[in-house]
Amino acid sequence: MGHAQLPDYRDPCGWNALLPKRLPRPQAMGVMRAKYVVIGAGYTGLAAARRLHELDPGQSILVLEGSEIGEGSSARNSGFMTPRDSKIDLSLSEMPRAERINAFCEEGFDYLKTIMTAGGFDADLIRSGRVTAAATDLGSQKIRSMHEGAQAHGFAHHYLKREDLKAFIGTDYYQCGLRIEEGYLMQPAKLIRGLADSLPDPITLYENTIVREVQPSDRGATWQVMTQEANITADIVIFATNAAIKQFGHWRDRLVTIYTYAALTAAMDSRDAAHLGDPVWGVLPAHRLGTTVRRVDHNRLMVRSLYAYEKPLAPQAVQHALTGCFERRYPMLKHVSLEHVWGGTTALTMNGSPLWGAIKQGLYASAGCNGSGVVKGTLLGKRLAEMIVTGDPQEALQSVYGRANWIAPEPFRTLGFHLVSAIERRKADLEM
Ligand SMILES: Cc1cc2nc3c(=O)[nH]c(=O)nc-3n(C[C@H](O)[C@H](O)[C@H](O)COP(=O)(O)OP(=O)(O)OC[C@H]3O[C@@H](n4cnc5c(N)ncnc54)[C@H](O)[C@@H]3O)c2cc1C
Repeated sequence: MGHAQLPDYRDPCGWNALLPKRLPRPQAMGVMRAKYVVIGAGYTGLAAARRLHELDPGQSILVLEGSEIGEGSSARNSGFMTPRDSKIDLSLSEMPRAERINAFCEEGFDYLKTIMTAGGFDADLIRSGRVTAAATDLGSQKIRSMHEGAQAHGFAHHYLKREDLKAFIGTDYYQCGLRIEEGYLMQPAKLIRGLADSLPDPITLYENTIVREVQPSDRGATWQVMTQEANITADIVIFATNAAIKQFGHWRDRLVTIYTYAALTAAMDSRDAAHLGDPVWGVLPAHRLGTTVRRVDHNRLMVRSLYAYEKPLAPQAVQHALTGCFERRYPMLKHVSLEHVWGGTTALTMNGSPLWGAIKQGLYASAGCNGSGVVKGTLLGKRLAEMIVTGDPQEALQSVYGRANWIAPEPFRTLGFHLVSAIERRKADLEM
């Protein structure tokens, strides 16, 4: 039997810890037969399973999740969502592609919203605007070029000066910022729980079920999916494990696993919470290696920062770094501790394009959401199911997203990553 492992989720997810306990679905056991097996119950896998059921009702669909719903990276993220994924500081010539990307993105976003409405859960989704802020001169240049882009392309927006940000989020740490009106925040553990717990009945979800190996059987007509306790024969298998697909031998030369970290402060009393500005906000950094901050439940802050290549960081280093990110921004709240600290993974590709489609007859995958997988994973999972059931090759989607580039093998890959991140960290400076 193979040895595929889950990403290292060593600390419990803080978003999940804020919710009442949820009883996980049972583990898969014994010998089973299904038409479809989806591996991974994140945004990608759940959207794929649901869409398979919508297009091919009555067929058996099994979803195998190695962890528990609420403990995977789909719950571990910062909860930013946008129906408009393209960059803002674009030239006019880049706009047609950006508009096509945004149209796909809107489809993923609308699919999520339709499921939420039908399932009667809102995951605290709120139209908060999408705010990017800069703490350095370089970051401020970026904000200015985003501002010009927003003006040129007619996006509803507001430029924020230091004092506007101080009033809005309670700190004068940032020099300036830009608020694009179209942007949303949600509680990620609530969202992924809602999506999993509202799956239609013919879809069976198994939790704590790590797939160890997937092998062709019956001369390639079917696939054997092996877990700790089950052996499942399936006609069609979908990998929705994000970068963990590399452990099954696929796309190793195109995907990188990145660990990134988040923390929630302890709940603050009303005097401390008075320093937090408006009731609802989230701020993205002007540099890609920077720190994300958001207000949560009126009396907490979330900070997200740090990137580690392929392996998790030591817990003490994470605690120390995230405490620094929080205290630099809110020195008046130094006495407030970080109550929950956790890490999660995302999958990066060199050029930002996802890896998507058929690997072999009956074997499909989608991976590489490059850090914005809530909406993109949903879209790509949904469209993968459409390709499988209808046979439509999804050329428009494939041409707009492109295909992930080849990445140099080891040791050049690790050297390259460390070199680029050292240079970028210097540039990011106080955005971290
Ligand atoms: C700290 C942090 C902050 C982030 N912030 C944002 C944000 O604000 N907005 C945004 O859009 N994105 C954000 N992301 C990225 C986002 O979380 C991912 O892009 C998203 O989770 C990808 O969804 P997915 O379903 O493709 O993969 P995942 O969510 O990783 O789901 C894959 C699932 O497969 C399971 N799995 C893996 N291997 C196996 C196996 N062998 N057997 C069975 N199951 C297996 C895993 O347990 C996991 O649940 C963030 C990520 C992190 C870590």
